[in-house]
Amino acid sequence: MNRFEYTRADTVQEAVQALAADPAARFIAGGTNLVDLMKYNVERPGRLVDITRLPLDEIVQHEGGLRLGALVPNATLAYDPLVNERYPLLASALLAGASPQLRNAATTGGNLLQRTRCYYFYDEGTPCNKRQPGSGCPAITGVNRIHAILGASDTCIATHPSDMCVALAALEATVQVEGPDGRRSIPSGEFHRLPGDAPQTDTTLRHGEIVLSVDLPDEDFSKHYTYLKLRDRLSYAFALVSVAAALEMDGDTIRTARLALGGVAHKPWRNAEAEARLQGRPASPETFREAADVILAEARPYAHNAFKVELARRAIVRGLAQAAAGTPQSQTDKRIA
Ligand SMILES: Cc1cc2nc3c(=O)[nH]c(=O)nc-3n(C[C@H](O)[C@H](O)[C@H](O)COP(=O)(O)OP(=O)(O)OC[C@H]3O[C@@H](n4cnc5c(N)ncnc54)[C@H](O)[C@@H]3O)c2cc1C
Ligand code: SF4
Repeated sequence: MNRFEYTRADTVQEAVQALAADPAARFIAGGTNLVDLMKYNVERPGRLVDITRLPLDEIVQHEGGLRLGALVPNATLAYDPLVNERYPLLASALLAGASPQLRNAATTGGNLLQRTRCYYFYDEGTPCNKRQPGSGCPAITGVNRIHAILGASDTCIATHPSDMCVALAALEATVQVEGPDGRRSIPSGEFHRLPGDAPQTDTTLRHGEIVLSVDLPDEDFSKHYTYLKLRDRLSYAFALVSVAAALEMDGDTIRTARLALGGVAHKPWRNAEAEARLQGRPASPETFREAADVILAEARPYAHNAFKVELARRAIVRGLAQAAAGTPQSQTDKRIA
């Protein structure tokens, strides 16, 4: 780990100024991702700006929905009564992630900004375009079992690792940020970016901008939802494929459909055409398979991850069936029901 200066910000303005004045500075919240990356020398901040004392740790009602402060711990969010009543999809996704100890320390803002789990990214001894632009991507011809099947580029095939963000994508949350040029809102679908020719840039957040909150809209997907996470073991593992499904049903007919996939792309993956194909249709295996086919028609697997295409197809069908039936995947039940 390299030497760094440490500052604790007392106000949002102080935090923004401290970062904007120093290109080598980074915010630190729970530290569960950033400190690991510093130990591996992947991140080498010259200054850490501790934001844990900022007043961003509340969950409040806002415009008919909920405003989730950037410093709310993942565990608090997962067990909050209002979140469970109105946005159980989000609670379920959070409980599918990491371990109880990590969820106690990890924050909403830090979870949004956690970095990929690509093994080469963590290994300073190998090239990696995300870590060092222009150095190459060994995952494309190397071991790529956990890598992307959708939206990847010739420079990077990493996946985004967060479970929480997959639920936020399906729920169409917006991220409120403040920076040197003032406040702005970023729709969750525009917050993370595809690698393109700049894989070093994970998000559309600008240096100096701090995440203040995540806002959930005034919508009700509390009866027909699921977060289905498929992974190598049933605890403490990142998703190979995950599915966040949120439906509004009219009897057996799907009135509104939201579907987001995790573990398959550089960002939580949505497909407007697949969602449109579900709407107004009966909730049947045929309808679900059709949506899966639309999404996976674009899949481009690599040598070791072709299995993800079929895994994703089955996960989409199962996730939609669970959501339609109102029998969501339980994250505390260690069987895949
Ligand atoms: C062993 C292990 C297993 C895990 N398994 C899972 C899993 O299955 N699913 C899953 O989703 N996650 C998993 N995680 C990741 C974990 O959820 C993240 O590490 C955590 O959410 C990061 O939050 P943090 O507050 O600790 O962020 P930090 O480590 O403090 O920060 C992470 C990044 O966010 C930036 N940042 C933090 N807050 C803000 C803010 N308000 N505004 C702007 N920038 C900010 C920091 O500068 C840094 O770049 C796992 C982690 C570990 C170590
Ligand atoms: S997939 Fe992306 S993160 Fe992984 S080695 Fe290639 S460039 Fe680096």
